[in-house]
This record gives sequence, C-alpha cells and structure tokens, in this order.
Amino acid sequence: MIEHAGFVLWFTGLSGAGKTTVARAVEVELRRRGLRVERLDGDTVRQRLTKDLGFTKEDRDTNIERVTFVAQLLSRNNVVVLGAFISPYRETRDYVRQEVTNFIEVYVDAPIEVCIDRDVKGLYQKAIAGEIPNFTGISDPYEPPEFPDVHLRTDQETIDDSVMKVLKWLEQRGLVPVESHA
Ligand code: ADP
Repeated sequence: MIEHAGFVLWFTGLSGAGKTTVARAVEVELRRRGLRVERLDGDTVRQRLTKDLGFTKEDRDTNIERVTFVAQLLSRNNVVVLGAFISPYRETRDYVRQEVTNFIEVYVDAPIEVCIDRDVKGLYQKAIAGEIPNFTGISDPYEPPEFPDVHLRTDQETIDDSVMKVLKWLEQRGLVPVESHA
C-alpha cells in the first residue's frame, strides 16, 4: 500500500456502454499500483443498499444520494471509489461532485445503436418491446455530460485504450503514481 489521496471516478453512460467493464479493469490496475479501492456498481448496489428502489426520477435520485454518502465516507478517508452508475441526470451528478472528495466524471460513451446491438443483459430487447418502463435511452432520458473530465468512446476504443486514458488522466494530476507504458 502507498500513501495516496482519495478520489471518486464516476463512470456514467447508457446501459451496456461499458461502465462495469472499464471500471473493473481500472480497479485491477489501481490495486496493482498499491492503491486502496472500492468499486460500487449500480447492479450490485441495487441488490443491497437500494433494493427498495425502482427507476422513477425520484428513486434514481435516492439511489445516487445513498451511494454518494458511501462514496463521501470512503473518499475522505483516502480510499479510491469507482462508481459505475447510469446516473442519467446532470444535476444529480453535479450533486455527487459537490459532496465527495476529488470527483472525476468519466463519460462512458457509445451510441445507443451499439448498446442495443450488444444488449449484454437482454434488457434493450425488452425495453423496445415496451416491457420495461423507464428504461434509459429508450423510454427515459439520458443527459450526457457537457464537460466530462474523461470521455471514453467504447465503440471506437479497446477496453485497454479506455483504461489507459483514465490512468493517464490520473497520472497527469498526480493522483496515481506514474508508470511508463512502454
Ligand atoms: P454497463 O456497465 O455500462 O452497463 P457493461 O460493462 O456491463 O456495460 O457491458 C459492456 C459490454 O460491451 C461488455 O460485454 C463488454 O465486453 C463490451 N465491450 C466491447 N467493447 C468494449 C469497450 N471498448 N469498452 C468496454 N466494453 C466493451
């Protein structure tokens, strides 16, 4: 373990854009470099901390508020938090930014057509068939970040490219130790 500051990498984007995939890979790399890391993922958090909530705007906001509280406690105690949440509302993400230590907004961007093609969890097919109400990108809004700190295009980059983009950004700000990428 090394001495380091806490920060919150907040991965936002459509379902299937690659938030979990990239966050997991970044987690591995940060641990390898000796940082303390916790990953909070929408899918798992919703089975535990916020299993009472659905997908209305109010419930989505409550979901993020609770997660923010956890991220706040961890980040102020020098733990790195990787948060992977669709978090479709700009205002809600701005709230997270205000509440936690060193918030970094990572926009995991892939066109909705690509996410539909991937349909990792089979949810788009159901949402398009009208079987899932309030499904982001189909029957619910997604407000893309206007000025993300890091912008990933997972339809154009490999997973490794995206991980390196995040790591480079963190290195440039002195948040993780620099390594040569030879
Ligand atoms: P989310 O967490 O945003 O819902 P997931 O990470 O669960 O998305 O799913 C993204 C899917 O897209 C995975 O099956 C992953 O393997 C695939 N994929 C293809 N190319 C990429 C890429 N460059 N970056 C991230 N994921 C990718």
